[in-house]
Amino acid sequence: MFCVHCGKPNAEDSSRYLTILAGCLLYVIVALVVRKRFDLLVPLREIHFRRRRLWRPVGALLMLIAFPAIVVGMMSDQPGWGVLIAATSLLGGILVLGTAGSTLRAAKISDHFAVFRGADEAFLRLLPVAEERSPVPSIAAGNAGGV
Ligand SMILES: [Zn+2]
Repeated sequence: MFCVHCGKPNAEDSSRYLTILAGCLLYVIVALVVRKRFDLLVPLREIHFRRRRLWRPVGALLMLIAFPAIVVGMMSDQPGWGVLIAATSLLGGILVLGTAGSTLRAAKISDHFAVFRGADEAFLRLLPVAEERSPVPSIAAGNAGGV
């Protein structure tokens, strides 16, 4: 098994399988109504798994600081500081979650397939090339039997 993050061989005893709850962050409201999600086991080396486990709560915490910062800022004489701190921590949290926290991101999920982004080029080279398929089943000339 090879690591999806860097494409290096994944020793069985140190391997971790990241469960991705796939969803589209950009379409949160729509997703709540017509949400498509599934569990996907993603091979990931221990080092990435540990890094992810460390930085995700940091990013989440940074984002959570934004809300009390706004409230405290509003109650103080200088609300500008509250807004500044809230914006900074919110942006910092998004950056931390977007870089250290994410490995694979769901780009598109349909009933038949899912498209993910974020896998390393070295990992992708290990995969077999997908066969080109036409959306409508075609009957090849000379193939009387069909498939
Ligand atoms: Zn790796």
